[in-house]
Amino acid sequence: MPARGRRPSARLAPSRLPPEGEESVIRHRPSEGAVDRARELRATMTEAELKLWSMLRGKSLGDTKFRRQAPIGRYIVDFLAPATKLVIEADGGQHSVEADAERTAFLEAQGYRVLRFGNAEILREPDAVWRSIEAALRGDHPHPLAARVASPLQGEEALPPLAGSVEAGASFADFIWFRTGGAAEWLVRPRDAADLAQFLGALDPAVPVFPVGVGSNLIVRDGGLAGVTIRLPKSFAKVSIEGDTVRTGAAAMGITVASAARDAALAGLEFLRGIPGTAGGAVRMNAGAYGRDVADILVEATVVRRDGRIETLPGSAFGFSYRHSALPDGDIVVEALFRGQPGDKAVIAAEMDRIAAEREASQPLRSRTGGSTFKNPPGHKAWALVDAAGCRGLMVGGAQVSEKHTNFLINTGTATSADIEALGEEVRTRVKAQSGVELEWEIQRVGKA
Ligand SMILES: Cc1cc2nc3c(=O)[nH]c(=O)nc-3n(C[C@H](O)[C@H](O)[C@H](O)COP(=O)(O)OP(=O)(O)OC[C@H]3O[C@@H](n4cnc5c(N)ncnc54)[C@H](O)[C@@H]3O)c2cc1C
Repeated sequence: MPARGRRPSARLAPSRLPPEGEESVIRHRPSEGAVDRARELRATMTEAELKLWSMLRGKSLGDTKFRRQAPIGRYIVDFLAPATKLVIEADGGQHSVEADAERTAFLEAQGYRVLRFGNAEILREPDAVWRSIEAALRGDHPHPLAARVASPLQGEEALPPLAGSVEAGASFADFIWFRTGGAAEWLVRPRDAADLAQFLGALDPAVPVFPVGVGSNLIVRDGGLAGVTIRLPKSFAKVSIEGDTVRTGAAAMGITVASAARDAALAGLEFLRGIPGTAGGAVRMNAGAYGRDVADILVEATVVRRDGRIETLPGSAFGFSYRHSALPDGDIVVEALFRGQPGDKAVIAAEMDRIAAEREASQPLRSRTGGSTFKNPPGHKAWALVDAAGCRGLMVGGAQVSEKHTNFLINTGTATSADIEALGEEVRTRVKAQSGVELEWEIQRVGKA
């Protein structure tokens, strides 16, 4: 049977989704119809799902029992160990990474831990996958492809107390868009801004701190990332309207912010519809499209500084330039206030639909990618330079220059971060040789090779 992507049918029809804001009160309660749908899915499992299922049924796991195609709220997860609240998902090559990020965020908000494995990984490296599942059941979770990082910290006791959660050795490959990369030495999810502030204030200043959104513009190298990685949970994703402005938590996705503005008939934020990252990542990157960027709409943002101070800074303090802000490393954006202008809801909605359709037609949205790889050099389009240098479809290991959009690199299913970065460097070399132009990486690259 050919490897298939996550089946869209694994979700319930949108009309059955709970109204916005209701998610957080659902506790592992199947939606209407989910039980029938789960039964149907059990009968049509993919090859990778069958392989995983035979492992989960056949190997000794003590008292742990897994169920397959288990309904949780509005989703049906591939495998669930109810007693340990461990969810295991098999991802196909052609699935929506953005939708998976939302799905994972929902499940984590309900207290589930989610392990994702690519179909190719399950079929080719079942032993490594099995070791990873065993480790997760023991309470630690080194991803099979994730190396431990050299630690500047001396064990968890070196970390200040936190009301949120701390995870050692969490794999970036489980949630970032490329689905590659090593482990975070410590992945910290603060409960709220005050929790984050007291944590950072008490953390040894020598420890590096890295904020991550959903990794839609990020390569984490295979050796992992030392220090503390901050991932803001769903409690930082609230969006509200205040007059002509939209106040958003930094973990809210661009599409959520744009949709809230549309519903309030506020124009000017439509471009966020096409940016599949968080509001915090968008501020840090000065994300933009169609001639507008965050610098045009940011009134102010609240930042928890590396030393634990909470400050609300005007947009002008961010030193924005093309896909860049001067936000110091280790500072975390926790909230942003964006300005819109009163507009016509139907016109705003039509513009957002146009953006969505245009993106779908021109970008590899259903692949494991990292957005625009290189910044557009002054007077040039990066994609055109890459194309002219003959790099369309070029491969290094499991990484490939997208055939659909040559400024996108994709993980075809088996790439490592080293493959992706080496491919990017090869493209830079060829473009320089062909056109004399030196491309600059837009994708952020962090961690140890
Ligand atoms: C298919 C696709 C299309 C894209 N199209 C566009 C586009 O049109 N225009 C565009 O500008 N970008 C685009 N991108 C890139 C990306 O979506 C944006 O850069 C986005 O703003 C990154 O958000 P993120 O949450 O994924 O950040 P990440 O990728 O997780 O992180 C990116 C950087 O932001 C920092 N960061 C993340 N969260 C915070 C925070 N809360 N506080 C401080 N720093 C933080 C990280 O440390 C890192 O340096 C695209 C990406 C993809 C995959």
